[in-house]
Amino acid sequence: MKIAIMGAMPEEIHSFLDETNPDPLLKHFHKTAKVEHGGNTYRQATYKNLELVLAYSKIGKVNATLTASTLLEKFGAQMLLFTGVAGAVNPAYKIGDLVAATALCQHDLDISIFGHPHGLVPEGAVYVSPSQELIKLAQDVAERKGLVLHQGIIATGDQFVASPERKEWIATTFKADAIEMEGAAVAVVCHALNVPFFVLRAMSDTADTDAHFDFDAFLKVSAKTSSSFVLAMLESLADG
Ligand code: SAH
Repeated sequence: MKIAIMGAMPEEIHSFLDETNPDPLLKHFHKTAKVEHGGNTYRQATYKNLELVLAYSKIGKVNATLTASTLLEKFGAQMLLFTGVAGAVNPAYKIGDLVAATALCQHDLDISIFGHPHGLVPEGAVYVSPSQELIKLAQDVAERKGLVLHQGIIATGDQFVASPERKEWIATTFKADAIEMEGAAVAVVCHALNVPFFVLRAMSDTADTDAHFDFDAFLKVSAKTSSSFVLAMLESLADG
């Protein structure tokens, strides 16, 4: 089984590649090759009986689309796990909390003047859902580790949301629980190519006026919270 591990920023996949990371699960992680393609670096590795390919895409939907497509089409990944940070929309989510996406949508996709709902284009869908099996696996991992894992709707768009008004509009229009800039692009690619995927985000901010200050303060620790959880999922996915 070949699994893609994807983030948007270097910080989001860093802890897999960091030689000084003391996570005991990493002792089964062995880097093999490094391939440059289309302006990104793809690192191949093994984890027990799993083959892995890891990459960060750079920020935004277009970059995420290129990287997700490359992970699946060029590297032949049969499953994709996305790890990263997001802005919390659901008032129950605190900075550092984890959410597994149950559905993803594009909050900035708008041809509503023609009578279409926000987030919809012809032959598309407003929401794309990750693999139920992977959500279930994540829930089992959370229970085993005694961690809280929210399940919620993630809204994606090419904007860093740091505005109560925009946040409220996205919350109302899409019933969104968290906001970020790549997840729905990854979802569309994986759905189109029929590859099971999973999107995990740890909250770095609350998408309000001071979101950029919180983001800078919490990026590293929240990115690590998310990637450590994905590592625990790999442990469950691997044999033995
Ligand atoms: N500080 C960075 C820019 C970060 S953009 C720089 O200067 O390079 C925010 C990144 O984190 C995106 O990858 C997005 O997916 C996620 N994210 C976290 N909080 C967000 C928010 N409030 N709105 C949108 N995306 C957010």
